[in-house]
Amino acid sequence: PNIPLGQILKETTEKFPENNALSFYGKKISYKELSSLAFAFTSAIQQNQVQKGDRVAIMLPNCPQYVVAYYGILNAGGIITQVNPMSVERELIHILNDSGAETMVVLDALYPRVKSVQAQTPLKNIIVVSLQPSGQDFAPDRSFESFLKEGNGTVVPVEFEPEHDVAVLQYTGGTTGRSKGAMLTHRNILANVLQCQEFFKHEMEFGKEKCLTVIPLFHVFGMTSCMNLSIYTGAESIMLPRFDLEEVLNTIKTEQPTTFPGVPTMYVALTNHPKAEEYGLNCIRTCNSGSAPMPVELLREFEGKTGAQILEGYGLSEASPTTHCNPPFAARKTGSVGIGVPSTEYKIVDLSTGTEEVPTGELGEVIIKGPQVMKGYWNMPEETANTLKDGWLYTGDIAKVDEDGYLYIVDRKKDMIIAGGFNIYPRDIEEVLYEHPSVQEAVVIGVPDPYRGETVKAYVVLKAGKTATEDEIIQYCRENLAAYKAPRNVEFREQLPKTGVGKILRRSLREEALKQ
Ligand code: ATP
Repeated sequence: PNIPLGQILKETTEKFPENNALSFYGKKISYKELSSLAFAFTSAIQQNQVQKGDRVAIMLPNCPQYVVAYYGILNAGGIITQVNPMSVERELIHILNDSGAETMVVLDALYPRVKSVQAQTPLKNIIVVSLQPSGQDFAPDRSFESFLKEGNGTVVPVEFEPEHDVAVLQYTGGTTGRSKGAMLTHRNILANVLQCQEFFKHEMEFGKEKCLTVIPLFHVFGMTSCMNLSIYTGAESIMLPRFDLEEVLNTIKTEQPTTFPGVPTMYVALTNHPKAEEYGLNCIRTCNSGSAPMPVELLREFEGKTGAQILEGYGLSEASPTTHCNPPFAARKTGSVGIGVPSTEYKIVDLSTGTEEVPTGELGEVIIKGPQVMKGYWNMPEETANTLKDGWLYTGDIAKVDEDGYLYIVDRKKDMIIAGGFNIYPRDIEEVLYEHPSVQEAVVIGVPDPYRGETVKAYVVLKAGKTATEDEIIQYCRENLAAYKAPRNVEFREQLPKTGVGKILRRSLREEALKQ
């Protein structure tokens, strides 16, 4: 349907006014309450002269105010600028200047950071969210509660062109470089919500589901699969502001969620909890894993322990994000990210030319076309032209498709290691490392080498109480991989650097390795 994204909250509220929309530390907010809070936000933001097309930044962890602000901005025709709460000053200055946001909603704990850069940005209005009553005075800025009272009880209707109007600037995680603002239109995001709903229609009953919302909403995966899909289907979103293992397990036990979109590192943590079985994880019917590769061994271990089913999918900020998922209605293939969600075309093209399609089973770059594919990058015509060609999104991911149309992500073009003329895909090695009985988490990067150009280095986190030496790990890889792929060095760590959504941050390991 050609409707603005904000309409889904209105429609669900009409159908299920008394159903819980949000749950936060036991406090429940019904759809009726959420709608009236979002209405108040829209009215207040209009009173503050925010016009259609103006950018408004949100820098919050998962909390009810996130959803209120998001829908409040949408209905005023504003463009939500998603800011990772972990952003440091330099990144904040970049996003605020790039987007030109003059208004921002921010958590009280992050307020000093925002204030310290405000003079170097266009920021004029700051609205501060406190998750616990603080009574703090933020003058000349104001609290979220007092801001909600600034409206005049009415909303000026806004005309939308859902196919053209940008709803969200989704800044890419920056795991590979400078963060770019993917322009997602109202139609892009709504299309992805509908594509996911259609794909899971037999798993999801309108007005009945409970979604464990622990992946962050500032990230496109959480935004669509936890927040917007829940609102469209009248589900209750059980929100947690961070991934704290004990808290997640206790929430599962008390709230009994039915779906849990997550990233592999979260499932690792749950699998390795000594008493995971006792928390009744089998109330969760589907765990959608995305954002990073799900090691096959880990998937098996998690399912064996919990009884929950993992369906791995694939997507990216530029596609709102979901393009592929293992189907609940047909074969699931472990190691694959599944088939295209409805109305999604995809093909594998030659890595160097980017045009010729390669034969089934061969490696190339996966390119995607569909209603969820972004309009372009904000203020970056050159990057847009390099990424969108004839409506095809060039993902930068190396992949293959099998005879049944299942997609296998092999690696990112930028993560590929070239050692002594061989192309090495870190993921091949990581899969083997995860099979080692002592390994909890592992990541592989290429480090400069005077003879081979690059060599393979592995970073490993061991399971609690387990031991292994560098030689043992290397030997294990030699037994299970072609010799040129085996790591030359292994470094043991207590933990690995991660992005806000929980992806392992290869870039910072590469930077560290360069300095050594
Ligand atoms: P940047 O684009 O700035 O590096 P990012 O990686 O955080 O940031 P996202 O849009 O969050 O940007 O991530 C999309 C990428 O995540 C995909 O291009 C792909 O490389 C990877 N990815 C997502 N799902 C999977 C999966 N199931 N298996 C392997 N890789 C995946």
